[in-house]
Amino acid sequence: MTDPSNWFVLKNFKCPAAGCTNKEGYSWNCPAHGSQYYINGLGKIRCGNGCYENICQVPWTCPHSFHNGGNNTGSDLESMVFSLSLNVTLMREAGAQWTSALITELGRQYAR
Ligand SMILES: [Zn+2]
Ligand SMILES: [Zn+2]
Repeated sequence: MTDPSNWFVLKNFKCPAAGCTNKEGYSWNCPAHGSQYYINGLGKIRCGNGCYENICQVPWTCPHSFHNGGNNTGSDLESMVFSLSLNVTLMREAGAQWTSALITELGRQYAR
């Protein structure tokens, strides 16, 4: 039994910006506070300093040259689900129920 409202540190996570080909996993920090990002199965990202956002609204910038100029930071459903699918550790830790709740919620968020 895994509660979708459980938070997990977002680490070893491929950049989910749409079109970014960088496959490397990163720990992600809030650009405003520098504190770690957490993710839950309800489709939210939060930082240790109180930022709280829908996953679809979070901009993503990894060190890859793809982002030069600050562009192309938005994710889409395919890129986000792909990044999640590469993060076997997170999904194992979070559990099937958490993961399926998140995938369902992401489908809703990106459809808007
Ligand atoms: Zn923050
Ligand atoms: Zn990237």
